[in-house]
Amino acid sequence: MAKVADFKAARPTWCPGCGDFGVLNALTRAVADLGLEPEEVVVVSGIGCSGKISQYFGSYGFHGIHGRALPIAQGVKLANRELTVIAAGGDGDGYGIGLSHVIHAIRRNVDLTYIVMDNHIYGLTTGQLAPTSDKGMKTKTSPYGSVEEPVRPLELALGQGCGFVAQAFSGEIHHMAEVFKKAIQHKGFSLVNVFSPCVTFNKLNTYDYFKERLVNLDEDPDYDRHDRQAALRKVMETGGMVIGVIYEADKPTYEEQLPGFPEEGLARRPLELQPDDYEALE
Ligand code: SF4
Repeated sequence: MAKVADFKAARPTWCPGCGDFGVLNALTRAVADLGLEPEEVVVVSGIGCSGKISQYFGSYGFHGIHGRALPIAQGVKLANRELTVIAAGGDGDGYGIGLSHVIHAIRRNVDLTYIVMDNHIYGLTTGQLAPTSDKGMKTKTSPYGSVEEPVRPLELALGQGCGFVAQAFSGEIHHMAEVFKKAIQHKGFSLVNVFSPCVTFNKLNTYDYFKERLVNLDEDPDYDRHDRQAALRKVMETGGMVIGVIYEADKPTYEEQLPGFPEEGLARRPLELQPDDYEALE
């Protein structure tokens, strides 16, 4: 059985203290705990500091183009349904140029996990305003403070009816690994937004900033994660400062709903719709 070390590949070049180390550690722990083997996992990433995770993770990987991790990841899963597919990237990648793919991946509900390392800034390009940057934040491209409202990924995913919405924090790696395990086990599209501090270019949203504010919903026995309206209310009341599984629902996947979709995936047996299947689609 594969161990955590079997899922570690190249030595990361992230800045010392970068939150993305925590994500890599939690993800290697999660897949090892789930009993997966490296050849059963594919990590597809976008562009940015966080996008390098597909090179540092010891499995099959695909380092895609900016904002396009999700279309590639969906294609991989539909081609071979036996694979555990994980898409990963940053907030600039996923909630900026790639945002429409997030919405459509939620609608489509292909069985994969999307991890967004959300540091509220563009790190690789040395500190510009990003989609999740707080209003008023001063960066190289917002010297007077941002006047734009940030993208709110949890509200967006919940509003769109995503079947699994969670949030984690790089300062709590053990908890993050547990969240990843649940997300991977969820049948359908699962989103995990991770507060992953950029220690070099974001001096506002630091580890201490999150530690002082975050509430762990997984420790609240009264929280009902199957109630979407309650989940939305909780996220709005707390300004999104929650970690844990926020919402989960059992929904049929894209693969399950399409008549005649082969069990083994399209790479091994192309889709051959029969006349009756077309009638079922009408
Ligand atoms: Fe991490 Fe920021 Fe350094 Fe990029 S620039 S590796 S996000 S700390």
